[in-house]
Amino acid sequence: MDQMTLELTQALVSRRSITPDDAGCQTLIADRLKAIGFAIHHLPVGDVSNVLAIHGQSGPTLLFVGHTDVVPPGVESDWQSPPFTPSIRDGRLYGRGTADMKGSIAAFITACERIAPNQASLPFRIAILLTSDEEGPARDGIAQIAPQLTSYLSSVDYCLVGEPSSRNQLGDTIRVGRRGSLTATVTVAGKGGHVAYPEQVDNPAHRLSQFLGELADTTWDTGTDAFPPTSFQVTHLETDTHTSNMVPGSAIAQFNLRYSPALTHTDIIQRIETIAHRHIGDDQLSLIWHLSAKPFSSEPGALRTAITQAIQATCGIEVEANTAGGTSDGRFIAPLGAEVVELGPVNASIHQIDESIDIAELDQLSELYEATLHRLARLVRAPNQ
Ligand SMILES: [Zn+2]
Repeated sequence: MDQMTLELTQALVSRRSITPDDAGCQTLIADRLKAIGFAIHHLPVGDVSNVLAIHGQSGPTLLFVGHTDVVPPGVESDWQSPPFTPSIRDGRLYGRGTADMKGSIAAFITACERIAPNQASLPFRIAILLTSDEEGPARDGIAQIAPQLTSYLSSVDYCLVGEPSSRNQLGDTIRVGRRGSLTATVTVAGKGGHVAYPEQVDNPAHRLSQFLGELADTTWDTGTDAFPPTSFQVTHLETDTHTSNMVPGSAIAQFNLRYSPALTHTDIIQRIETIAHRHIGDDQLSLIWHLSAKPFSSEPGALRTAITQAIQATCGIEVEANTAGGTSDGRFIAPLGAEVVELGPVNASIHQIDESIDIAELDQLSELYEATLHRLARLVRAPNQ
């Protein structure tokens, strides 16, 4: 293989694109794609950069989704080499964003460059959508652009998200959905006072802990074929006093649920509010909800088949399809009716000091994306293969 994917990854990693700063990554990518016939639409929202590149006029659309932003590097002196100076050691490329997910973007672009001479013969359009707001609030990125896509594309049929899905080896895992994420902040008011005078106080910490205890003991659902059961976790707990002889006047907790499509967020909120009222009076309770992601899942379709076959041919392994991990931008594309599958490199080092990617894996990923496009082309032409 040539050095194209490695060189493009290095060029992207050397741009310090901490959310929401794109630091010129998308212009560099747009120039490469323009050269092979893509039409480029820069779609900034506030200080977030978004770019949509489209090749081909008609047919169904395969949309590649990715992000050019990275998480902050942490303490830069803790890195063996500076996080934004890509450096090669022992067959690996080190730098922030190598695995999450500048390597995947480079791999998809070099795959497109190799396909370019024959792209007109593909039975689908290729579109690429990148944002610089995935690792941050994810508010002005794909969330904003997804609803506008139909004014550029007649439909979005297949969506390949380049997030690092692999566990131990490239291609061992793909994601075919993600759980939803619902957070609540609960405040319980009571009557504080001296611990030695229990008749004069109403301890809100007791009510809150009974409430949280019941939530922790609740079985929310049993999951689905594709999803594990919904999980509940307390993430924060405090009172307004920090001394051993005072009963607090109020108590606060935060909790989060990762939930499957077996439930909706309104089901969960209703059930939790019913439980809350068993322990806490209406005038003593405040519950503030934040829905950060709805769950999504994609039924097996042509894209999953194409990827599974491409992994068998390129990596020689069987793939596991699951819905693990945090949230992803796939959640904004799934409602458009697209089959969403996530395939990217090994995720062992993402968001960590000394993030890195195997250089051979970078080339293999590019081959894998290319093989996926070819196999999808066959399936689109003859769906029953
Ligand atoms: Zn990512």
